Amino acid sequence: MGLIVQKFGGTSVATAEKIRAAAQRAVAAKRDGHHVVMVVSARGKKTDELLTLAAELTDAPPRREMDMLLSTGEQESVALMSMAIQELGEPAISLTGGQIGIITDSQHSKARIRQISIERMRRHLADGTIVVACGFQGVDDEGNITTLGRGGSDTTATALAAVLKADECQIYTDVEGVFTTDPRIVKGARKINTVSHDEMLELASLGAGVMHSRSIEFAKKFDVPLRVRPSFSDGLGTLIAPHGEEHAPVVTGLALVRKESRVTLADLPDRPGVMSVIFAKLAHRKIPVDMVVQNVGTDDTAEVSFTVPEDDLAATLTAAQDAIQELGAGSVHSGTNVAKLSAVGDGMRSHSGVAAQMFRSLADAGVNIEMITTSDIKISVLVNRDDADKSLQTVHAGFGLDQADARTPSIGYRQSPSVPTTEGSLESQVVGSLANMEDLVVSDVDLDERQSRISIHHIPDTPGVCADLFEAVAEGDVMVDMIVQNISRQGSAEVSFTVLRDDIDRCLLLVREVVSQWEGAELSYDREIDKLTVTGIGLRSHTGVGEMLFRALADADVNVQMINTSEVRLSVVVGADRGQQAAASLHTAFARSDEQ
Ligand code: ASP
Ligand code: MG
Repeated sequence: MGLIVQKFGGTSVATAEKIRAAAQRAVAAKRDGHHVVMVVSARGKKTDELLTLAAELTDAPPRREMDMLLSTGEQESVALMSMAIQELGEPAISLTGGQIGIITDSQHSKARIRQISIERMRRHLADGTIVVACGFQGVDDEGNITTLGRGGSDTTATALAAVLKADECQIYTDVEGVFTTDPRIVKGARKINTVSHDEMLELASLGAGVMHSRSIEFAKKFDVPLRVRPSFSDGLGTLIAPHGEEHAPVVTGLALVRKESRVTLADLPDRPGVMSVIFAKLAHRKIPVDMVVQNVGTDDTAEVSFTVPEDDLAATLTAAQDAIQELGAGSVHSGTNVAKLSAVGDGMRSHSGVAAQMFRSLADAGVNIEMITTSDIKISVLVNRDDADKSLQTVHAGFGLDQADARTPSIGYRQSPSVPTTEGSLESQVVGSLANMEDLVVSDVDLDERQSRISIHHIPDTPGVCADLFEAVAEGDVMVDMIVQNISRQGSAEVSFTVLRDDIDRCLLLVREVVSQWEGAELSYDREIDKLTVTGIGLRSHTGVGEMLFRALADADVNVQMINTSEVRLSVVVGADRGQQAAASLHTAFARSDEQ
């Protein structure tokens, strides 16, 4: 016997018929011998309707009243759901956030959970009653109703699963599960059976997710197995849980962000603190920056390029102008007709040649790569937007993602003691951390002193160049770590990457041979560089992280040579003589932010 949390979103409870179908799921799980907690969202477009209604009365609805209003959507759903379950012959009770004891802070419309009491749920579950909980809501210390932000029911479900130590948290939705990529663009897209929390965080933040990132962060932190399941069929959906060791796929899924813009700040002074100024300006305007590429300067100027969502371009250009003004030098350039394609997979950590394979697929399709960045489980490329669909299709096929998934779906539940008790400190441990879940969580700052950097300047800006380069390296079985590539304004490209110091001589031999074919290309390298990696959660969704990182490095007078960012990891390459200093500075900066 286990404990299952089942969450039903708005579309899955839109009509009486759908409510009955959802009730049947809960009843079936109960009859299978499980304790069942349901979390239900407002029906259909209810929340939107209530928002519209309020907007008809006032331009500035008081936020307390707004939460009072919006929370009714969920209250309606749980009452109906409980009736439907009872009609099917099982005991059920509907509970509001306040009745359960979900205590939040007082930030109306974006409250954070502080504490969850499991006492009452436990009592009902022990009686064999199905608990039907309102998603999206809680109460503050004064008893005022609060809501957790749009899509917050996922977060309620995951948080309840965490405090109850549920065996599985099932998110019922109107799709079959998580797909290898958007099936509307790629016919061969397949449903994924298992995706890890990290992979899902990356995919979700790249717009491919069916779930709210915040709830995946909860699940990762508290080790909650999540399952995204279709509400319209018996499909097993997608399990979000760590891959079994032998099964981490090299590439799990691809995401495409079509409306990207690319911004370059050039002719910048090449000294510590420059990036810090730029990123502070961007963070100040809450602009989510991605694909940061700072190539090693060849003259005494520095250049940095990055991508931002197209909607943020105007604000970004203003911020960039501000930065240049403050720095006293520099120029701003931007390009709009670009799209970002990313491949994500845990197995990239231990496989060489993944990037080479992706670049080859693109080259074969005649697609030119404008920018490249990689992190440990992600490779992102920027391409012309007109090539976006073609790129997605060709890379999907190139990685064999349209082949049937060989991994066996896991259908069993992790077994655990039946009803959790309030004894012990689990509840307080979990809720203690929940309060900080939305904050930035930095778990580690790591200094890697075994890396070298190789850069190639003035390479031709044509399809296939990076494919040739990284294929040669992969054939020599050299594991490439970070890759950044950018097109300079002169129309040639520059690429830098890191390899282990032990591999650099072998790698240089392979690279020289390829580079000799490109007229005007120049090779430079640094045998000893240090790589610093900050690991945590929400590193990219928190716009201030880059600022904090660059501030800390600037304060320590450290010049940054390469950068890359992902949801869970942020890496910078610095000179080997500065590594220790930089690490100490980052430790201090992030430890301070953790305590706040
Ligand atoms: N009803 C809320 C919303 O529409 C919460 C949810 O559906 O998760 O955002
Ligand atoms: Mg919803």
